[in-house]
Amino acid sequence: TKTDAWTADRDHLLHPYTDFSTFREEGSQVIESASGMHVIDSEGNKLLDGIGGLWCVNIGHGRKEMAETIAEQVMKMQYYNPFGHSTNVPASMLGAKLAELAPGDLNHVYYTCGGSTANDAAIRLVHFYFDQLGQHRKKKIISRANAYHGATYVAASLTGIHGTKMGFDRIGEDFIHHVSAANLYEKPDGWSDADYCDYLVREFDARIQQLGPDNVAAFIAEPIMGAGGVLVAPDGYHRRMWEVCQKYDMLYIADEVVTAFGRLGEWFASDALYDYQPDIMVCAKGLSSGYIPLGATLLSTRVYDVIAQPQCEGGVLSMGLTYFGHPVACAAALKNIEIMERENILEHVREVGPYLQESAKSLMNLPIVGDVRGSHLMLGVDLVKDKGTKEAIGDGVGEKIFQGCLKRGVIVRPVGDRMIVSPPLIISKEECDEIVAAISGAIKDYLADEGA
Ligand code: PLP
Repeated sequence: TKTDAWTADRDHLLHPYTDFSTFREEGSQVIESASGMHVIDSEGNKLLDGIGGLWCVNIGHGRKEMAETIAEQVMKMQYYNPFGHSTNVPASMLGAKLAELAPGDLNHVYYTCGGSTANDAAIRLVHFYFDQLGQHRKKKIISRANAYHGATYVAASLTGIHGTKMGFDRIGEDFIHHVSAANLYEKPDGWSDADYCDYLVREFDARIQQLGPDNVAAFIAEPIMGAGGVLVAPDGYHRRMWEVCQKYDMLYIADEVVTAFGRLGEWFASDALYDYQPDIMVCAKGLSSGYIPLGATLLSTRVYDVIAQPQCEGGVLSMGLTYFGHPVACAAALKNIEIMERENILEHVREVGPYLQESAKSLMNLPIVGDVRGSHLMLGVDLVKDKGTKEAIGDGVGEKIFQGCLKRGVIVRPVGDRMIVSPPLIISKEECDEIVAAISGAIKDYLADEGA
């Protein structure tokens, strides 16, 4: 059944990451409603949302309380200019709440419309910071291969996933540089995790030396690389990379767009799980659980104090988004955080997350599963041709497994040769089993079709 929405979508929308050669035939699956852990499409199929919308619907779908909060704020004051000395109640109160939850002295907030704009803001603030200090050459940023930092031009240039750059020029070949991802699955044979960690830290240090420490301003990294393959770094990696940043007077930007707000059982992962204190922390997604777009770049007091010095021309930070501190989005985020606190969602993730990881390990028994990895409610499953060589399976197999899961009423996300799972944080253990069973069943169907 092709609804009007199906046709209108096919004729008018430019979908991200969509193969346009098949799109005119196949169109899109129209999702019409959503509640709790499930979404329902226009054909009436009820599907278990194994990807939390897109790593973001942390408190689950369709919460009435969220709708009421949003409606109330719209009726009270839906929008007013946030520039200069004007503010609104939800933006201010959310700022205080974020300062309370964030580790250390990450007490200052620059609001944006999502993760990409928050990363762009982070880079501009880093540049502004060093300008304020009179270090005008200290502008280069080091990111990592396979990282995902967003889709605006700077964020896409920080991104290290090759495919996301196809057909686009890159900004700042001279100011954005990439070092290796921390990919334990592909570490050289015979190396221990500690050897590999030493190698990555040495590579980073050498790159800074090569670029010149006076030119390198910051390092940006996700605590666990998400879209790049749910890559969990070796023990001590982040702390040691942070120490290198300290040594060269660089700022450490933690991109916690996916990892913050409970996905790893903590408000923020950097300090709580990996023992380092970023100078700048970027969040979005779970901040408002996707009910309304919102991003935030948090700054430490050390960085803020420099940025807030009235040294620049006119003494102002001339970087403003119309929707900075949007009152409706900030009210939604405050309610989202209140729900997470009231329902002890972080504690729930600490229980159900390890269960999902353990239960998913059974997938390793399948001949095309090379690796199963992750932490808490971030899970990645690598599909390979051969477990020995680890060669990726290719041939659109990820898409076939995705379709096989859909047939079983479960949504997972194929990213190339990887299946990614990132469900709402309210998931039950039974629903974790359902996701693992769907992936397993879909892989077995594929193997049967191939006569394997
Ligand atoms: N950073 C990370 C780690 C992400 O995973 C994403 C989106 O998936 C972004 C930034 C970009 O966020 P947005 O799509 O809200 O602009």
